[in-house]
Amino acid sequence: MSKLLKPNDAIKAVYEDKFQLFLQNIGVYENVISGTEKCKFCSQPISLDNIVSVFPESGTIKFVCDNPECIRKMNNYFNEKQ
Ligand SMILES: [Zn+2]
Repeated sequence: MSKLLKPNDAIKAVYEDKFQLFLQNIGVYENVISGTEKCKFCSQPISLDNIVSVFPESGTIKFVCDNPECIRKMNNYFNEKQ
């Protein structure tokens, strides 16, 4: 079996690298790694595997997991804010 990355995998890896850097820049990377942050909508612990989005709210950082229901709620949430 070849160990070469498929083009999509390479793009995802670069994206994940930048995302982890972004999490480090906003100071939440360690929390995500150690599983102490929770999804804003379903309170499931957030990890690098299920994190979909982060956004600031009232001076803190909120996290959203990859549950389709949470993604739907996040979209509604931002639509209502506008
Ligand atoms: Zn969730």
